[in-house]
Amino acid sequence: MLFRHFFTLNHKIILSLAIVFVAVALLIQLDNPDTLNAKPNRDLAAVSQPTFPQSPPASEPETQSYLIKKGDTLSDIFDSKGIPGSVLHQILEADVEYLSLETLQPGKRVTFKYDGHRVLEALVLRIDAARTITFSLQDDGAFVARKEESETHWHSAITRGAIKGSFYASAVKSGLSDAEVAEVAYLLKSKIDFRRDLRSGDTFTVVTGREMTHDSPTGRQRIEAVSLLRGLKAYNAFLFEDGNYYNETGESVLLAFLRWPTEKRFRISSPFSPDRLNPITGRRSPHNGVDLATPVGTPIVSTGDGVVSRIGNHPFAGRYVDISHSGTFETRYLHLSKVLVKRGQRIKRGQKIALTGNSGRSTGSHLHFEFHVNGQPVNPLTADIPTAAKVPDIELASFKAQVSKQLASMQPRISSDLILATGSPKSTRTTEENEGRHDIN
Ligand SMILES: [Zn+2]
Repeated sequence: MLFRHFFTLNHKIILSLAIVFVAVALLIQLDNPDTLNAKPNRDLAAVSQPTFPQSPPASEPETQSYLIKKGDTLSDIFDSKGIPGSVLHQILEADVEYLSLETLQPGKRVTFKYDGHRVLEALVLRIDAARTITFSLQDDGAFVARKEESETHWHSAITRGAIKGSFYASAVKSGLSDAEVAEVAYLLKSKIDFRRDLRSGDTFTVVTGREMTHDSPTGRQRIEAVSLLRGLKAYNAFLFEDGNYYNETGESVLLAFLRWPTEKRFRISSPFSPDRLNPITGRRSPHNGVDLATPVGTPIVSTGDGVVSRIGNHPFAGRYVDISHSGTFETRYLHLSKVLVKRGQRIKRGQKIALTGNSGRSTGSHLHFEFHVNGQPVNPLTADIPTAAKVPDIELASFKAQVSKQLASMQPRISSDLILATGSPKSTRTTEENEGRHDIN
């Protein structure tokens, strides 16, 4: 009897504990709908601690992950987390050399890392499967940005097709995306009029690359080689290691870049540097561009043909324009007084795109000019960027070796298999059967 009474009492305690546990668990879920590996926040942990000594102590740091939705702004996200605007301001200051938080893409994640007193210690933005940028709190309350990249490789595939109707329709039918078709047309536009010159039965072969981490695509894509056969004449473009495209003899198929984004040359007020002592913050950080001492209102020209990929107004970078050139290259122009182009607009080399100014945080009127190769900033005034119209002599042998390897891999595979098997190509097999995209590595 005594034993049974004791058991019942214990049973009740266990039941009550279970109810409390379920209630607490539900509260945590409701409170943090976007939390991955949710840990109880400080208040809940304090409530549950006497009953659950195994719960994390109040000083446990916390990590919350937020999935970016369409229409989200950074200040809305920070508001919803109760993080002061001054903290966001510090983070934006650290982002001035990257502008990575300027375009919040739905589906990407930001991770908030708090210390035990719910002070934001770090913000991590996942740019893609291979890249993150981390903003870390320093002792003086400022944040420092660090970009990290894991190893990637390019996975190539071949797409073949024949012209039937327009080039666009034929290329899309063969499996190329709209962006890839536009890129192919861009690469060969100086050689071929895609509306007039192509005939039914002309063929094209395109090698496309997808950037991969060890197991997943990063979303970056590129055209690695194009061969368009018009009658008996081939029009080719091959991507070389310098990021430029050349024909089979090593001549650039694209116009070379201008070195300067201004008609006149200006004094360099601050050089490109991977580790610069910032004159305003007194902190060492990369300076991803070159500063040119331009008076307000100096016309800025795009240094290459391209498309306006982004226009913005940043508290530190000021008004800015990004121009994407053939996928591999990007130029960026900051602290503008006036932008003269629209997002998505096609731009010619030498076209006026903006006027210089002093917007954002700046010690005086200047142009901050960046040049990126495959997402990496390089010194725009000295880097080995395609300002020459040919593959340099010293690299010509390695370029030609690459081209013959690529051309060999671009030959229809089924035909060569048949040649091996039968000694002669089977004439009844049409090129139609080789159409579409095939992996080659
Ligand atoms: Zn600068």
